[in-house]
Parts: sequence; C-alpha cells; structure tokens
Amino acid sequence: MRLLVIEDDKRLAEQLKNALGEAGYAVDQAFDGEEGHFLGDTEPYDAIVLDLGLPKMDGVSVLKQWRKDGRTIPVLILTARDAWSEKVAGFDAGADDYLAKPFHMQELLARLRALIRRSAGQASPLLECGPLAFDTSSGTCTLNGRDIPLTAHESRIIGYLLHHRGKIVSRTELTEHVYAQDFDRDSNTIEVFIGRLRKKLGEGLIRTHRGQGYRLAEPDEPA
Ligand code: CA
Repeated sequence: MRLLVIEDDKRLAEQLKNALGEAGYAVDQAFDGEEGHFLGDTEPYDAIVLDLGLPKMDGVSVLKQWRKDGRTIPVLILTARDAWSEKVAGFDAGADDYLAKPFHMQELLARLRALIRRSAGQASPLLECGPLAFDTSSGTCTLNGRDIPLTAHESRIIGYLLHHRGKIVSRTELTEHVYAQDFDRDSNTIEVFIGRLRKKLGEGLIRTHRGQGYRLAEPDEPA
C-alpha cells in the first residue's frame, strides 16, 4: 500500500513519514498544494493524507480539483483544532475522513486502515483467502493459524492482492503500490518477492496469469 502525505509543516511531515513507514506503507511526500495536487493526479495512491492549510494551493482546492477530475482515491484531511468550518468545507470538497491537529498517530493509522479497506470494499480488518489470513490492524499474516513473518515489501504485496481479491493485478500495478516514488523501482523485483511469498505461503496461493499479472487463488479453486 502506498500513501501520499501533503503537509507543509516539516516536522509533522517527517513524523508522519516515519510512522507510516514503520506501519509498512510506502510513503511519498509533498510540501505544498501544487506539488501535492500533481502527485495525486498522476500517481496511483491507496490513500492520501492532506493538510488543508498549504502554500501555493490550499487543501480544499486540491481536493475539489481531484474530485472534479473524477479521482476517487480516499482522502483524509488534517484540520486545525476547533475549526469546524474547515471540516465542513473539507467534507463538501470530497474528503472521506478528517483528523484535527494535534492528533495521535495511532488514530491516524487506524483511520487510514479503515479508509483503505472500505475503498477496496472490505468491511472487516481481517482479510482472508482460504488458509491465509492477514490482519490489517496488526500487519500479521497467518497460514492455517500459524504465524508467517513477512518483510515490509512482502506484506505490501500480499496486502494489496488481498484488498483486490478476485482481480488480476499486473506487475506494473504492484510496482506502483509497493514502492515510494523515490525508490529505485524495478518491476523484476516483484517477481522475486512473489517467489519468496510462494515459498512462505505455498505455491498454489498466488497464481500467475502470463502477460497479465497475479491473482490470489480462490479457496475452492483447483490447484
Ligand atoms: Ca499547514
């Protein structure tokens, strides 16, 4: 899962990047509204954290423009404390959720998980596929009830496939959702991660569709 954080307060931006990175997300950052708008317009994020008070282009305008252009990506806005009118303006512009500053990082993480889940049509925090279960709140993965330790990249890949169950996900799409923009991306490494996941989770779980991508096998699907 890959996020965009648009926040001009350098200190808060740094804290957000660190906390979200530790929680396993690939994180891109923008420090003003114009850059943020551009990135949200061109890169496929799983969710966006948008501060409303931004230089060059304010957050509400950024959000309005995305929505006008048909971008449906979940957006959580950060508002000033007690500024109820900002919240109203934010929701009217198309925000999905908000947090007033100062906030607890744990609450931000929980709200983002819920947003990402909902946007993928998943109501439960536990994503399951046959013997595989992935707990989005703790980031733990189990196979037949047994803990399977995963690296950050492996978690992002299996998490993305589970959020998009039943769909063939291309290598390009996976690349775009597991790496931050400044990361040296190489879509061949996706194959390496898939190979490692198959070693850990069994060969049959992740199916390859030649020339198209990967898909999680349904529990009742023949091997
Ligand atoms: Ca600000």
